Amino acid sequence: MSKITKVIARQVFDSRGNPTIEAEVYCKNLSASSICPSGASTGTYEAYEKRDKTNKRYLGKSVLKPVSYVNKVVSKRLKNQNVHNQEKIDHILIKLDGTKQKTKIGANAILAISMAVKKLSAKIRKIPLYKSFIVKKNFKLPYPLMNIINGGAHANNGLRIQEFMIRPDKAKSFAEGVRICFLVINSLRTLIKKMGHSTSVGDEGGFAPMISDNENALKLIVQAIKKAGFTNGKEVSICLDVAANELIKKRKYSIHSKKFISVDQSIQKYLKLIKKYKIKSIEDPFGENDWNAWTKFVNKTKNKVQIVGDDLFVTNLERLKVGFLNLSANSILIKLNQIGTVTETLEVIKFAHLIGYKTIISHRSGDSEDTFIADLAVGTDSNQIKTGSLARSERVSKYNQLIRIEEELGKSSKMNKVI
Ligand code: PEP
Ligand code: MG
Repeated sequence: MSKITKVIARQVFDSRGNPTIEAEVYCKNLSASSICPSGASTGTYEAYEKRDKTNKRYLGKSVLKPVSYVNKVVSKRLKNQNVHNQEKIDHILIKLDGTKQKTKIGANAILAISMAVKKLSAKIRKIPLYKSFIVKKNFKLPYPLMNIINGGAHANNGLRIQEFMIRPDKAKSFAEGVRICFLVINSLRTLIKKMGHSTSVGDEGGFAPMISDNENALKLIVQAIKKAGFTNGKEVSICLDVAANELIKKRKYSIHSKKFISVDQSIQKYLKLIKKYKIKSIEDPFGENDWNAWTKFVNKTKNKVQIVGDDLFVTNLERLKVGFLNLSANSILIKLNQIGTVTETLEVIKFAHLIGYKTIISHRSGDSEDTFIADLAVGTDSNQIKTGSLARSERVSKYNQLIRIEEELGKSSKMNKVI
C-alpha cells in the first residue's frame, strides 16, 4: 500500500494556448503529473469541462476555480488513499462531484487527477505505464490514424470534413507505419506547395490549405499516396472524421457541400466517396442524436467500412449500449476527457471489445506534451490511435512514445489487427 500524501493542481496551457489543468499526485517524495486535454468539436453528452466563465483576465477560459477546489478540498479527501486502488479513488472523485456530467468539480480537474494517480501507481510499482492497464502479456502496437489535412472546426479553410487521415494498413511495425505516413506527408507537402497554397498546419498538425471542397482534398491525398510509392486502399488507406455534429440543421446535413441535404441523399454521396477513394473508416458521419441515420448507414456499408462513434458515444457506457442495440457503428473513439476518469474509460473499452467493436484511442484538438494515451492504446489492446499528424510536438510526442514502447517490447512486439 502506498498512501497519497497530497494532490496539487495548477493552471498550465494546452497546444492552442488555452488554460488547462495539470494535477500532480504525491506519495511522500514521489510524484506523477498529468495534463487534461480539451476539444473544439465537442459532443453535447461529454463530461463537463469547467472554466471560470466570468473571469475576464483569461477571457473566461481560465481554470483557476477548479484548480483551487482540488487544492483545498480534493487533496484532503484523497489523502491516505492507496494510490494503487484506482477504482476506489475514481469513485471517490465521482461521488464527491455527485453530478451526471461532472459539473461540480469539472471533468477536466477529475481526469487530470485520475491519470496522475495511474501514472504514480505504475511508477511506484516500477512498471511501464502501458503494463498497468488491461493487457498483461502479448502487447500489440496500434495502427496510427494520421490526420494529414485539417478542416472543419480545426482550421479556417472552409473544408466541410474535419479530418482527412491516412492509415498504413500493411505496416509490419509501428516505426514502419510512421515511416510510411512520413513519406505520404512529405509528398503531400510538395503537392500543396506546387499548387501555390500555404503548407502551414492546423490544430492537429495536418496541412490546412485553402481548399474548401472535400473531393479536392481527397484527390490530393490519393496523389500524395501514389507519389510516395504506395497504393491507396492497400498499403495506405484513407480514413475520415466528418464531425457531422457541426454540419446539421433541422436533420439535414451540409457535409458534401454548403447545401443542406437529407440523410438518404448524404448516404448516397458517402457511398460514392467510399467507392471512388477507397475510404476505409468514417467517424461521426451523422449527428449525435440521429441514431436512425447511423443505423441506415451501417446497414448500407455492410460492415466493410469502419464506422466510428465519437460524439455519438462520448466514451460513455450507456450511450455505447444504445448504439450496440441499434447497430449504430462498429467502432468507438475513446477520449478520456469525454467521460472523466480512467476507471470509466477502461469499463467502456472492455465493453466495446466484448461486443466486437474496435477501439481507437484519441487525442483532443487541444492537447499537451502528456503521452498517457500512447500507453493506454497498447495497454488496452486498441487497434488504432488517432493523434494528429507528424507535426507539432504535442502530436509527435505520442508517436515517439509508441516508438519507445515498441523498442522496449523488442522481438515480442506485434502490430494490432485493423480490419
Ligand atoms: C475529434 O473530433 O475526433 C477530435 C479529436 O476533435 P476535438 O478534440 O476538437 O473534439
Ligand atoms: Mg471526432
